[in-house]
Amino acid sequence: MTKSVTISVSGIVQGVGFRPFVYALAHDLGLYGWVRNDGAGAGIRLEGEAIALFLERLHSELPPLARIDALHVSPCEAQGFTRFEIVASDAQGSKHAAISPDIALCAACARELSDAQDRRYGYGLINCTDCGPRYSIIRALPYDRANTTMAAFAMCAACAREYTDPTSRRYHAQPIGCHECGPQLRYTEAGLHVSGSDAIHAAAQALLSGKIVALKGLGGFHLMCDATNEEAVTTLRRRKRRKSKPLAVMVPDLSALHRYSCATADEVSLIASKERPIVTVRKNPNAPLAPSIAPNIDRLGLFLPYTPLHVLLFEACRIPLVATSANLSDAPIERDEAGVYARLGGVIDAMLSHERAIENAIDDSVMQLIGGRALFIRMARGAAPYSYTLQTPVTQPVLAVGAQQKSTIALAFGSRVIVSPHIGDLGSLEAFDFFERTVATFARLYDFTPRLIAHDLHPHYDTTRYAQRSGLATLGVQHHHAHIRSVMFDQGLKGEVLGFAFDGTGYGEDGSIWGGEVLRVHPYGFERLYHLRDFALFGGDLAAKEPWRCAFGLLLEYYTFDEAVALMPRIPSEHLRALHGSAAKAPRCSSMGRLFDALAYLLGLCDEVSFDGESGLLIEAACADAPHAEAFGYRIQEGVIDFEPMIREILTCKPPNAPARFVATLCAATLQIAKAHGLEVVLSGGVFQNRTLLEALIHAFDAEGITYHLPLHVSVNDGGVALGQIAVALQSIDVLR
Ligand code: ZN
Ligand code: ZN
Ligand code: FE
Repeated sequence: MTKSVTISVSGIVQGVGFRPFVYALAHDLGLYGWVRNDGAGAGIRLEGEAIALFLERLHSELPPLARIDALHVSPCEAQGFTRFEIVASDAQGSKHAAISPDIALCAACARELSDAQDRRYGYGLINCTDCGPRYSIIRALPYDRANTTMAAFAMCAACAREYTDPTSRRYHAQPIGCHECGPQLRYTEAGLHVSGSDAIHAAAQALLSGKIVALKGLGGFHLMCDATNEEAVTTLRRRKRRKSKPLAVMVPDLSALHRYSCATADEVSLIASKERPIVTVRKNPNAPLAPSIAPNIDRLGLFLPYTPLHVLLFEACRIPLVATSANLSDAPIERDEAGVYARLGGVIDAMLSHERAIENAIDDSVMQLIGGRALFIRMARGAAPYSYTLQTPVTQPVLAVGAQQKSTIALAFGSRVIVSPHIGDLGSLEAFDFFERTVATFARLYDFTPRLIAHDLHPHYDTTRYAQRSGLATLGVQHHHAHIRSVMFDQGLKGEVLGFAFDGTGYGEDGSIWGGEVLRVHPYGFERLYHLRDFALFGGDLAAKEPWRCAFGLLLEYYTFDEAVALMPRIPSEHLRALHGSAAKAPRCSSMGRLFDALAYLLGLCDEVSFDGESGLLIEAACADAPHAEAFGYRIQEGVIDFEPMIREILTCKPPNAPARFVATLCAATLQIAKAHGLEVVLSGGVFQNRTLLEALIHAFDAEGITYHLPLHVSVNDGGVALGQIAVALQSIDVLR
């Protein structure tokens, strides 16, 4: 090997201790030259004998948070360096560096936090190169302190020494600070202001006395209250206008985790992973948690403290705390005090905040473990933004604007594809502002100007209108095609697959609402092979909130009007008569999500749905004691999946275990289709968040030797749609090229 090389590294190499690692490695091997951050990631100049060994150890000893996506080594002229240095960032060059997600407090910092001899003892914003905020504080690339919200804080002499010492674990840790120089805590309650460690004690006292406290976390504020105090929890629900959607609970430590839940060993390690997501686990029915945290559902979202402030708060009050995003219903999470007071002033009793500004709001990630796989329900803090590396660079930058619910965006430029964190459900002005702000943030960070915008086919989605207003070239991508392509892109699948897209609603190519679709997807398009027998969706979007509307539409496919009225005694017949009169105008849907709603109503599990996916969770809870249920009858004819025999049997015979048998029937139909085609199977769409269904399918596929794929880095729900749109757009550019 030549004795003088330039190495360019792309991936997650900024803000994760990569340069000090390279520095130490070069010293160890007697190599000279330099390392620096640049727009693509990091650049290294090396001279000496042991370059091959350096490259080997670069990979094998990489710091825990770093990730190398691509590495190019090119020989160059020797310059006779006499030492190895870390030099200033090259701010020029293309901005392709991947931004590290925010990372939970590391063990070394946790030790210092509780060490009375350490100068950062009890400092609520302690961090290092292995932990702390990243994405949430960044304003521009490269990731240097001046480009973050920490620019406002001048380092004291002691912090500056650590920051400039390549052997310190805080070398170039951009957000560092201490009691003396860093951002400080403050507690506010009804005109009372407390700062420093007294602020933590004041907040703990407020929580112990049943008050609701807004707490500033990494990517936004949480609303917190005592999770064992039913009155506090119902007060929070009432003030936040949140009816029954489950609330997440943060527990002080692992022993509390075991006390309050029946989490499995794998779930515990996911909860304790460095990303510290919220994980939905089985409730411990005997744990003294407030019943209204997750009413009627047998699962609970739990997580561990992930900032030093959380740790200090739990030292002062060792009770589990409800920790839900500070927002009103579907609005984005609040990121500054003014926003909390303006929109949630009537919800909170007090606030524990700090002076470090949040530039980019980001929610907690939510995950579940099914069949040994960790799946995202919401991809956000700790995991996002996520970046993929392409084998060949794209010819033009593409922006994908996603769907309408669980919105995310994705961008493709150079050799990179990036998926944003969860933005949320669009539809409100605040949520759409947050969407636009996220587009602007990524455009600024990466000097990104799209030439093509990929969007959903739904004409009324805010994102579709945004694309059409842009004046740029646009590409409409069918919703379920995008669902399947997101998994194919994530898993690197290149051939033909059989895609099962089961979700709530997606605009179909024929203008009706799809959502129970089986697609053959190949590199240049898709064919709709099968779909659920469609039915009238009375009230359109209203049907997703009032499941009896879905049930009525479904019944009219199989029964006369009078029979259907008799089967729905809980709804006044004049209501049904009026609807029936408008049947010709009602949209048609083949949605699996709406079939779940209809069944949940007909099985008497719910009359009204207050959050997306509730009917599925209620069916899941009703299946808990019947793992091996027998399938009902169904028909598959000319591409139509028809559950008429099941519906008739349920309504006529009222069999026991009907919820579990319903899920077994879906599983049987899916398996029959998968076996008939012999293709690899892809599963996507929010319905696959249903644990009972997915567990049964995984079991059946494994038993039959069918290869199946689920997404690992994006969610299976509409959060993955933007990535699927990018995948279709990239293919279409190639076709045109
Ligand atoms: Zn640390
Ligand atoms: Zn300091
Ligand atoms: Fe969808």
